Amino acid sequence: MTYGAIAQMPVLWADDAWMTLAVIRTREMQSIANGYPQSLVHYLRWLRQETQHGFTLVLNDEPTLCTIAKVSLVADADGLRLLTGCKGSSALKPCFLCQNVLNGHDKVQNHVHISCCDVHACHLQTQDNLIQIQRHLETLLSRKEREEAEKLLGWHLHALSASILVQEDLRNWIPLSSLRYDPMHCFLANGIVPQELGLWYNALLDKTSCDIDTVRRYVLQCWTASKESTLDINKIFTQERWQKERDFRGDASEALSVLPLMVAFSWEVILPDFPAMLPHCECLTALLALICCWTDAKRGGNLQVKSIEMKRLQKVHLDKFVLFFRSCVDQLLSAMPCRHGLAKTLMLQPLSNARVSRLLVVNTRFFRPNKQ
Ligand SMILES: [Zn+2]
Repeated sequence: MTYGAIAQMPVLWADDAWMTLAVIRTREMQSIANGYPQSLVHYLRWLRQETQHGFTLVLNDEPTLCTIAKVSLVADADGLRLLTGCKGSSALKPCFLCQNVLNGHDKVQNHVHISCCDVHACHLQTQDNLIQIQRHLETLLSRKEREEAEKLLGWHLHALSASILVQEDLRNWIPLSSLRYDPMHCFLANGIVPQELGLWYNALLDKTSCDIDTVRRYVLQCWTASKESTLDINKIFTQERWQKERDFRGDASEALSVLPLMVAFSWEVILPDFPAMLPHCECLTALLALICCWTDAKRGGNLQVKSIEMKRLQKVHLDKFVLFFRSCVDQLLSAMPCRHGLAKTLMLQPLSNARVSRLLVVNTRFFRPNKQ
């Protein structure tokens, strides 16, 4: 899904500020050559023409003439990749927002590895540089040579040429910096939380005598679901959802509810008897702190302060993650959006869309502990 908003709107946290631009399966996006970036270009160009002389909004009961100075787009990692022509994890340079982040190679001068936790070490991509990349790829006439260069530079020539990023009339209206990751997808739906719950569960099976039945008994005994809850504990904590060497197989709402329960289980049940689980439990706890900060930011308050705190918590979590999963960190991180890019885009706009807002209202009050 791709959502768009007028970037200078002071109420980007409001559901109504975001308009759904596209709802399409990744497989279908890929099946039409340049179709997705090109159709969005046509649509946004039409929108720009329609609104170039302004349009009227009723604000505080007063008709007000508005113009759109800048547009912001939000999509999941696949959506952004296909929207821009970035090749993602299949390329040496996997991130559409960074110039110098490498996948699978470290110790290259002036570059950083994808596991680097220092957001400031990453150099932001620029639109001028993208045009240079496009021109360079155009000079390579042999298909093999071009494909190799595309793999190194991380950009697919035809899709990049069709995208908003290099269109003369749109590139300043929808700049690279206004493309944002959708945190609901990055964190919850096939994102970081289900991945890490799967890694934690794998360690639980390897290092303890517990399995998902132990967790289910603990949750049933120690926690009570709130009235708003629609989750079925007997369905979530089953072998079907929790399989060895697999991510947690639940949806976004389930991932959000399960994470705090697994952290509580870690500290109350696991660690007293199995201290070898400490690194995994600490990493999961750090992830929960990050998710709580994000969900908290959606309820208002000083977003700038919360953004700084969220950036700090993301670094704490990534430091632990890279340390504990060092042997397979390339494989784990390359499947996810670059976390530098994630940090940057999330910091600027921690709110994303209507579904997430509703989801969070329900889930923050999801479980309460039973009295001891
Ligand atoms: Zn990046």
